[in-house]
Amino acid sequence: MLTKRLKTDSESYDGSIKEAAEILKNGGIAAIPTETVYGLAASALDEEAVKKVFIAKGRPQDNPLIVHIANINALNEIAADIPDGAYKCAEKFWPGPLTMVLKRTDKIPALVSAGLDTVAVRMPSDKTARDIITASGLPLAAPSANTSGKPSPTSAKYVIDDLDGKIDAVVMSGDCRVGVESTVITLVTSPPRLLRPGAVTVEQLREIFPDIVVDKAVLSEPEKGEKVASPGMKYKH
Ligand code: AMP
Ligand code: MG
Repeated sequence: MLTKRLKTDSESYDGSIKEAAEILKNGGIAAIPTETVYGLAASALDEEAVKKVFIAKGRPQDNPLIVHIANINALNEIAADIPDGAYKCAEKFWPGPLTMVLKRTDKIPALVSAGLDTVAVRMPSDKTARDIITASGLPLAAPSANTSGKPSPTSAKYVIDDLDGKIDAVVMSGDCRVGVESTVITLVTSPPRLLRPGAVTVEQLREIFPDIVVDKAVLSEPEKGEKVASPGMKYKH
């Protein structure tokens, strides 16, 4: 497949956002910038599109994806039983590099969440990411845009080096501002738990959740066959 390069200089920007959104609405997959790392995006409502993401990355199907939204209203559609703490976190850290795991509604296909009854949600701050989400009108499932096991890409060049010919498009933006993955917490457990360390620190999270627990998998490698709360922690990112 030919991987389109969608330029984001001022003349090309609007056309590229529109084209990326069209690709995603039509069930295609496109690498998009976010402030953390480049994401490989697909409509989170389209199971076939999400399958393509797993295939292009060679990602194990037991490793769930993060769903990206640009508007807080979208949260109510994809997550259920949302606790107050989630709204407090959204106010403090969104848009930004915090991912929250919440109960999933059936709008989101099980494949997105690797069969779990939860969904991981984040609102990125990167303007290009937000413009693409808004133009598509979709929540976007987007893991890091790398072959599983390789480092997460922080520039469009790294994405092309790795995935050229395997995805529909790459949105060619600048280097990722943060360059570190999002912090993942779950609010399904009480107290909340840190599942993956990232750009938002535990100290920052303690301002909202003084009792937040750091998951065992963050502190040590899981034993072979051990059940982990965040399946991705078994794998290198
Ligand atoms: P990546 O998409 O490569 O940034 O990785 C996403 C991370 O979020 C992985 O560590 C996943 O295991 C974790 N994650 C995504 N969805 C869930 C979920 N529903 N429950 C727990 N962890 C999740
Ligand atoms: Mg990754």
